Amino acid sequence: NTPLHELDPDVAAAVDAELHRQQSTLEMIASENFAPVAVMEAQGSVLTNKYAEGYPGRRYYGGCEHVDVVEQIAIDRIKELFGAEHANVQPHSGAQANAAAMFALLKPGETIMGLNLAHGGHLTHGMKINFSGKLYNVVAYHVDDATGQVDMAEVERLAKESRPKLIVAGWSAYPRRLDFAAFRRIADEVGAYLMVDMAHFAGLVAAGLHPNPVPHAHVVTTTTHKTLGGPRGGVIMCTADLAKKINSAVFPGQQGGPLEHVIAAKAVSFKVAASEEFKERQQRTLDGARALAERLVQPDVTEHGVSVLTGGTDVHLVLVDLRDSELDGQQAEDRLHEVGITVNRNAVPNDPRPPMVTSGLRIGTPALATRGFQAEDFAEVADIIAEALKPSYDADALKARVSALAAKHPLYPGL
Ligand code: PLP
Repeated sequence: NTPLHELDPDVAAAVDAELHRQQSTLEMIASENFAPVAVMEAQGSVLTNKYAEGYPGRRYYGGCEHVDVVEQIAIDRIKELFGAEHANVQPHSGAQANAAAMFALLKPGETIMGLNLAHGGHLTHGMKINFSGKLYNVVAYHVDDATGQVDMAEVERLAKESRPKLIVAGWSAYPRRLDFAAFRRIADEVGAYLMVDMAHFAGLVAAGLHPNPVPHAHVVTTTTHKTLGGPRGGVIMCTADLAKKINSAVFPGQQGGPLEHVIAAKAVSFKVAASEEFKERQQRTLDGARALAERLVQPDVTEHGVSVLTGGTDVHLVLVDLRDSELDGQQAEDRLHEVGITVNRNAVPNDPRPPMVTSGLRIGTPALATRGFQAEDFAEVADIIAEALKPSYDADALKARVSALAAKHPLYPGL
C-alpha cells in the first residue's frame, strides 16, 4: 500500500506539476473539462483489477457480480439521459467508439461520407491515414465558403452521386448546430446509415440546450470527457435492431476486457449530467462562448485581421480566423500560453498556412464553466484574449489578470 509519492516520486512530481498547471492557468481547449473528484475516485478504484470480457450477465470471467452492477447502471443512465434504445459503454475512447460503430455497419472498401478534417471533421470521419480513411472509401463534404456552415446541398449531391453506406454527422471544430433531420432524410434517400458523432456537444444535449441527435440517427457515438465532463472514454448508442451488431463489434470485434473502473466513472458522470447543476453549468458554457465571440468581432480586434468563423457560435467553442492577420495559429496559441490561457491552434477552411502552423484558434468554455466561471468572468477572459491577439500587448498585465481569475475560482481545492 505504498503511496505514489513514496513508491514513484518521479511520476508523482509530474502529476503534482500537472495539477498545479490546471489550477493556475485557464484551460480553454474545447475538448477538455475537469472531472469531478467522485469521477476520479471511481476511476482510481479497485475495479481496475477486474477482467470482465462480455456484457453484464454474460461474462467470460468469474467474479463479475459487482462490475455487472456498475456497467448496468452506466448503461441505464445513459439510455435515460439521451432517450436511446441501446447503449454500449465499453469503448475505451471516442476513436474506438467510431471504429467499432463502422466495423459493425460496414465492410472494408464501402463508402462513408464525413466532414472534411480541415473544415471541422474528426480524424475518424475519413482522414487519409486514419483507419477510417484506410479501410473505407471516403467522400468528404465541406462547409460553404460564404457562410462557414455545412453545405447541405453539397451533402445531398455527394450522397446521391456516391451512394455511401454510412453518413457521419459530427465535428471537432464547428461553431454551429447540424440539421440532423436533414441528414437523416438524405441518408434515407440513398439507403445509408446515419451516424452522429456528438463527442463535442453531448453535454449540451444532455442539458437540453442543443438538439438531440438520438431520435434521428441509427447510431450515435460520443466521448464522455468533453462537454459531458466525465472520465476519458467513449460510448455508442443505437436503435434496438442494431444492438447485437454494435455489441459484437466492440467485443470481441475491437476490444478485449472493458475498463470497468472507467465505466464506473462514466456512470457517476451520467448521474451528474442529469442534474440541475449540470444544466446550469452548460448554460454558462454557452453564454461564455457567446460572450467571447461577441468580444472578438469588435472593431478594435477586427482591425488587426482577427475574426470569428461564421460570425459567432451556438455551442461551447469559438473558432478564431487569423487568415487576414499577421499572427498565425501557432503564434496566437503561444501568445495565449504566455499569458496563462491554454487553447489549440486549428486549421480553418481553405487555410493558406501549413497544418502545423494553421490560421486559426479553437477556444472552448466547458472547463472554465465547470470551474465556476460566471458571465462577468467570461467577459474578463474574452477581453484578455482580445487584448492578447492585438499586435502590441502587455504580457505581464494580462498574466496578472489571468492569475486573479484563477485565484477567484480555485480548482480541486484540497487535492
Ligand atoms: N469524435 C470527435 C468528434 C472528436 O472531437 C474526438 C476527439 O477529439 C473523437 C471522436 C475522439 O475521441 P478520443 O480522443 O477519445 O479518441
